[in-house]
Amino acid sequence: MRYVILRDDDTNALTPPECLEQLYRPFLERGLPVNLAAIPNVRTDVRTLDGRPEGFLFARNGDTPRTLPLGSSQQLVRYLRDNPGYHLAQHGYHHDPAEFDREDREEIRRRLELGTKLLTEAGFPPPETFVAPHDKFSPASFAEVAARFRVISTGWFELRRLPLTWWPRYALKKLTRRPHWRAGKTLLLSHPGCLLSCHRPVEGMFARVREAVESRELTVLVTHWWEYFRTRGKLDERLAQELWRLADFLAIHPSIKTLAFGELPGPGRP
Ligand SMILES: [Zn+2]
Repeated sequence: MRYVILRDDDTNALTPPECLEQLYRPFLERGLPVNLAAIPNVRTDVRTLDGRPEGFLFARNGDTPRTLPLGSSQQLVRYLRDNPGYHLAQHGYHHDPAEFDREDREEIRRRLELGTKLLTEAGFPPPETFVAPHDKFSPASFAEVAARFRVISTGWFELRRLPLTWWPRYALKKLTRRPHWRAGKTLLLSHPGCLLSCHRPVEGMFARVREAVESRELTVLVTHWWEYFRTRGKLDERLAQELWRLADFLAIHPSIKTLAFGELPGPGRP
């Protein structure tokens, strides 16, 4: 049996629910779980690491407050809660660039705890999975996140970003070429890059996704909902078709199971 986890990043209080609905209805109606890495308290003027406005803020306008908790969009919260196929992971706090690439433990803890508080206050179960903005962690962040979350999902792992006490297990992971590993009770999952993306050629996109899924036991597939709506909120049908082909494939393939992060086995779970 092979396993797939579909992770969509950057859902925030400015995400129009109809965008998620258009993209993910084919998954939800086939009973395939969709993991949303959600920003607890988005900073609405945030920019990317190279200074461009973040694409997930396209619905903002002149009156938008500087920060917005996820729960401030009643429409979005209702939509997500009405569709139990969505599972929320915590994606940073404000989504400041590199907000978890810092050493100040107190500030790291504050952002982690406030983020979880805002997601639970909005009516969601406490998140068990953490995704850092732009996959940027410091050693202190990895340690603080692992103390609070059962799963960390990120692009890749680098020795210099890991707590010293994790180094021996990291060496073993490298030696055995395992994509995923464990630090204490926390599962550490890597992914093969954002294969479903507007930054890659549409031609052959689904074939590359399929190849990734068929070449390892557990594949985390990462995409970003807003990349499908880059032209004034209008759906990019060609890109979406590649995503929907994945839904068809996962639904009919007898030896591939699609999981929510929460369904992964671990301490205290079968
Ligand atoms: Zn993000």
